[in-house]
Amino acid sequence: MTDTYLIKYGEIFLKGKNRFIFEDALVNRITEAVEKVEGEFRVHKYLSRIYVECKSDYDEEELIAAIKKVFGVLAICPVLVLEDKGFDDLKEQIVKYVADTYPDVNFTFKMLCKRARKNYPLNSQEMNCSLGEVLLDTYPGLKVDVHKPDVLITVEVREKIYVYSKSIPGPGGMPVGTAGKAMVLLSGGLDSPVAAYMISKRGVKIDAVYFHAPPYTSERAKEKVVDLAKIVSEYTGSIKLHVINFTEIQMAIYQKCPPDELTIIMRRYMMRIAEIIAKESNCLGLVTGESIGQVASQTMQSLMCTNEVCTLPVYRPLIAFDKQDIVDIAEKINTYETSILPYEDCCTIFVAEHPVTKPVLGVIEMHEHNLDDCIDEMLKKALDEREIIEI
Ligand code: ATP
Ligand code: MG
Repeated sequence: MTDTYLIKYGEIFLKGKNRFIFEDALVNRITEAVEKVEGEFRVHKYLSRIYVECKSDYDEEELIAAIKKVFGVLAICPVLVLEDKGFDDLKEQIVKYVADTYPDVNFTFKMLCKRARKNYPLNSQEMNCSLGEVLLDTYPGLKVDVHKPDVLITVEVREKIYVYSKSIPGPGGMPVGTAGKAMVLLSGGLDSPVAAYMISKRGVKIDAVYFHAPPYTSERAKEKVVDLAKIVSEYTGSIKLHVINFTEIQMAIYQKCPPDELTIIMRRYMMRIAEIIAKESNCLGLVTGESIGQVASQTMQSLMCTNEVCTLPVYRPLIAFDKQDIVDIAEKINTYETSILPYEDCCTIFVAEHPVTKPVLGVIEMHEHNLDDCIDEMLKKALDEREIIEI
């Protein structure tokens, strides 16, 4: 059982003097992730390296699975940590390490020694040669390949000596919380949970809003959205989910506006409400799962009409994605099975048979005036009576 893992991180290196902010955020996010794993762990940063030390028995698979959900982690390397007891001892330890890690010892390898501590008696190249040689002498199944080795054995000399050769890929991206907050319009469909995942991968913290329309949409449809938010929150951290009762507004639009414009007008009110909640929650933008041309309400003309009601930027991470690309991510992040459950969402109940695909903004605005006598009160009521679910 390995006791320590070295966490490699990527783009954080680009951040210059602010690097420590990103590193500290990553340490915090990893700490939160391992808190859910049974066992005792210490996550710490030392000389621009992050380590997870295991202080008790633990399930390796469970620990790795938890760290693999932390954005900002490029790779997880099980590492052998040695006290510096001289080079002869290091040679013995490396010989043992190889046998312990690769029981049948049959592969090509390359040594990669690095010294952060320059007072070590051998330089990196001398270490590479000497350690490589002792391995070749000990194990006939080993061969050196400096270009494409099966195994790269890294030895880092710091205050202690760190040996590792396995690298488990993490999700990449940036630690959540390093890029501000956004409000996701989260439906029970396939797209918006994937959009939430993607924006969060860039370090954005998220809250969410869901519009439901009881009794046209069932309690089970709402539960499905809660379930999706829970799955997504394994990556994004806690989410405040605002549930808005949209029935009254939807009925008013249904009764007073042309049927073919129903979806567009409805989407415009969703965006307006989402923006109000976003602003009061200090969000810097809205996020949707829209993708150009996917449905009538997502043609460029339609997107222009919905976008027009917002003053905050609207981020659409899936804008140029094909459905299959979205499905692939949904499967990877485990939202697919929940998203495809057949509970109706509030858009499918009120859809027109022939929705406009090229809405004209002026015409939409004109028809929205049909709602002037009631809409303000309805918006206020919907906001006042919202339910907030902490996820
Ligand atoms: P999704 O799969 O995310 O539901 P969709 O392909 O069904 O998307 P639409 O129904 O046109 O597309 O919705 C476009 C976007 O509007 C969604 O991705 C989501 O961000 C938002 N949205 C739609 N319906 C709701 C809802 N009931 N509550 C919250 N957001 C919604
Ligand atoms: Mg939908």
